[in-house]
Amino acid sequence: MKHLLMKKICNYLFIMFGVFFACSACAKNPIRTLILTGQNNHNWPVSSVAIKQILENSAQFQVDIISSPAKGEDLSSFIVDFSPYSLVVVDYNGDAWPEETRNNFVQYAQKGGGIIIYHAADNPFPDWKAYSEICALGGWEGRDENFGPYVYWQDNALVKDWSPGPGGSHGKQREYVLSVRNTDHPIVKGLPMQWLHAQDELYDRMRGPGNIKDILYTAYSEKETGGSGREEPLVFTVDYGKARIFHIMLGHAGETLEKNTAMQCAGFQELLLRGAEWAATGKVTRKVPVDFPTADRVVMRMDYK
Ligand code: ZN
Repeated sequence: MKHLLMKKICNYLFIMFGVFFACSACAKNPIRTLILTGQNNHNWPVSSVAIKQILENSAQFQVDIISSPAKGEDLSSFIVDFSPYSLVVVDYNGDAWPEETRNNFVQYAQKGGGIIIYHAADNPFPDWKAYSEICALGGWEGRDENFGPYVYWQDNALVKDWSPGPGGSHGKQREYVLSVRNTDHPIVKGLPMQWLHAQDELYDRMRGPGNIKDILYTAYSEKETGGSGREEPLVFTVDYGKARIFHIMLGHAGETLEKNTAMQCAGFQELLLRGAEWAATGKVTRKVPVDFPTADRVVMRMDYK
């Protein structure tokens, strides 16, 4: 009896110590993260704050937001130093950055920095070769066959299609199913093979250098709602030197933080967190959450946690 009591006390202390250690580790050493925003054809004041809340509510990240001057304004003094950060989230679609900021960004990537290319961040700078390689695929802004092939999923493989035509479009917003294409990658390991994403845009006909490293999720872009009729690559990592780059095309921003369906989807939030941890550290320590969506059930986290 006494032995059993001692065992219980020991178990309790062990658990308490574990909880204390885990919490102090994440509170003491959160991943220093920069969200770069300030211009976008999307509602960046909503998306950047939503991303900050998703990341910080996990207690794994400490997030700074840096906003550029507004579109059309002078960006010559917009010099960004990426070196203090383990993770840079690009939530930007606008005017060209000054050369010093462009060079700093490329150096940050080449030295092995962690980067998230989020939604319309794959639209800008079509003529900046290094940025196109950091994205692997991009859309709009005059992209066509001169910017690289269309890339999509066909017969269990990614194919590159050099047929001419514009790059980047999407059909009507809707809920859609994401299908996993690499079950071993730490970002997706343990997640369902298929899950239903809340209403969002589904980017299609994207083109670019196509240097995808690991294709993680595709979704079928149906012609009936204005799509391509192809299985489109929406979530992947990028092969670019030593950088760890997570490209996620999901997450079209809503009108307000409260009306922000695509970003309030538990699947989007969890994928962002796992991609962020992987990009910053090369590992994913997060457990698969009990509220992850299933193939036929959308799940929302309205408060971004
Ligand atoms: Zn959008």
